Amino acid sequence: MAGSHDHVEEALPPGKSFADRVYLPAVMRGLKLTVQKFFGTVTDKHATVQYPEVGIYDASEAERAIGHPNPRYRGEHILVKDEQGREKCVACLLCMAACPALCIHIEPEPTPPEWGDRERRPKVFEIDMLRCIYCGYCEEACPCDAIRLTPKFYTPTTSRTERVYDKERLLENNPAAQIPQRPAK
Ligand code: SF4
Ligand code: SF4
Repeated sequence: MAGSHDHVEEALPPGKSFADRVYLPAVMRGLKLTVQKFFGTVTDKHATVQYPEVGIYDASEAERAIGHPNPRYRGEHILVKDEQGREKCVACLLCMAACPALCIHIEPEPTPPEWGDRERRPKVFEIDMLRCIYCGYCEEACPCDAIRLTPKFYTPTTSRTERVYDKERLLENNPAAQIPQRPAK
């Protein structure tokens, strides 16, 4: 019978055990963590960073186990460059059509005659980061891996217009992400 009682105890959903119902063990665990973090601050092992003055990507901060965003986290976009440093985008507008938030604006133009590998490139390529919902549809729609969402968080800004990224900014945004960070599709 004792075995079946144990079985019933194990099957209790989270938050229903006796320890959960009296709260004290959880409170004590919380107090322990608070004291640990307090003395960690005194010994210069902070649990926080002074964002945005200190970026979350700083290696020294990562060593403090503050943590990195998951590589699959969808943050700010980049426009990917080809081997010659040009945008890979061929201005097909598929990403713009796929975007449910209507936050991509592209104006195509013909490529210079010396560009023999494509007919069009974006003259204007803008993304309104405030309207974007970071769904990743633009990345999925692109036939030539020319746009990617990276794990980069928001860059703090003081005006709405600064949140509209133009082509130049998208090409230089988060340079480390020019190397693919996700498994190939
Ligand atoms: S992530 Fe989604 S909402 Fe944002 S630009 Fe791409 S398609 Fe539009
Ligand atoms: S980023 Fe990709 S999908 Fe969007 S216009 Fe350029 S090539 Fe087309």
